[in-house]
Amino acid sequence: MGYIEPAPIKDKSNPFESMMSRFNIAAEVLGLDEQVYNVLKSPSKQVSVSLPITMDDGSIKVFEGHRVIHSNILGPSKGGIRYAMDVHLDEVKALAAWMTWKCAVVDIPYGGAKGGIKCNPREMSAGEIERLTRAYTQAMSGVFGPDRDIPAPDMGTGPREMAWLMDEYSRSMGTTVNAVVTGKPLVLGGSLGRVEATGRGVMVSALGAMEKLKINPYHATIAVQGFGNVGSFAALLLEERGCTVVSISDISGAYYNEKGIDIKKAIEYRDANKGTLEGFKGATLMDKPEELLVLDVDVLVPAAVEDVIHLGNVNNIKAKLIVEGANGPTSAEADKVINEKGIMAVPDILANAGGVTVSYFEWVQNRLGYKWTRERVNRRSDRIMKDAFDKVYAASQKYDIPLRIAAYVVAIEKVAETYKFRGGF
Ligand code: NAD
Repeated sequence: MGYIEPAPIKDKSNPFESMMSRFNIAAEVLGLDEQVYNVLKSPSKQVSVSLPITMDDGSIKVFEGHRVIHSNILGPSKGGIRYAMDVHLDEVKALAAWMTWKCAVVDIPYGGAKGGIKCNPREMSAGEIERLTRAYTQAMSGVFGPDRDIPAPDMGTGPREMAWLMDEYSRSMGTTVNAVVTGKPLVLGGSLGRVEATGRGVMVSALGAMEKLKINPYHATIAVQGFGNVGSFAALLLEERGCTVVSISDISGAYYNEKGIDIKKAIEYRDANKGTLEGFKGATLMDKPEELLVLDVDVLVPAAVEDVIHLGNVNNIKAKLIVEGANGPTSAEADKVINEKGIMAVPDILANAGGVTVSYFEWVQNRLGYKWTRERVNRRSDRIMKDAFDKVYAASQKYDIPLRIAAYVVAIEKVAETYKFRGGF
């Protein structure tokens, strides 16, 4: 079948349209029934709330919060909560749908959701953020639940906010319910292996793709954009498996060392240097950070922000393989060029699904009242990631389509088939 041209995107800054342009191609490949198509494209629930919060100076400020449940066909919905000034409903809708496809691709029994509060957590005190988190939890108490909708951290939130959310929800239920949220601190029922889970899944996907492309990891060169949670663990674990990471970057710039960067040292440096690589001596600072993306390497791992691969630079990419650690690093229009150039791209909904997989394990452990060892978590998540990669690869061969569309095909097929069995009104 080859590549199907996506319909032109009317509003490029609208993430929902960008997601739908890929969804539409996959629906066409599958010959998805129009009625099922309509069910799957519409979010099943959208809740928007106003949250009046007393600030530290005594003033009352009203914050806008959202939670969108895209689908609960496969099970309770799962998805993070974002605290950022650019949170808006369309974006939350897109991210919620993304979660449906991500959970379906790795075959875990969850639907998709996403939440967000329009706020700037960097300008708020811990007390203000705590009150906001508790107010949001109260407002969403009819939405959240371990069998209904299970939030997790996203941009601007972390274990601290998840602990408040779990506590507030538990108070309203009159009993401790730690399975209502994942990404909690370890002492509150968080899972071992969660911190490195997304980077680990990127490593498993990268190795799976390298095998198909006959790239020997011991001879492979790698560039990783972004050196936060996902990028640094992906780089470390790929290095541990024999790859040479020649370039890494973060907000302070991009760094290059032809002989390979010692990733453990880079992580130690970052952790001792307020979280940035600024001044790192194990590599040379490149003139322009965006040049990392067009380096002559075997594998490129964008693990920072969205839309970094676009029509303006995609023609210059030399990597044979792109593994998307970040969400949405490639614009929908750049997909076509990547495909024409014969570059294999492991899409975000597959490559970075290791995080949600271990979140699922956190929920399973909470419900069992039991704790797994790190080895068990890693072994099981590696297997899930490898199985998912193989399934997506098989679909790409079967329909002669790129891995990105194949991932949507696998996900949509699973949700559509489940929907047909469950039925509607
Ligand atoms: P993070 O905040 O830990 O790290 C982000 C890194 O990117 C930092 O090193 C930052 O300096 C760098 N960065 C920011 N802007 C940059 C730019 N313009 N150029 C180069 N570097 C830049 O975030 P994270 O958790 O590692 O998430 C990274 C991406 O992965 C995001 O798209 C996120 O949505 C996605 N993701 C994360 C997880 C997870 O479990 N953390 C799961 C799935 C997807």
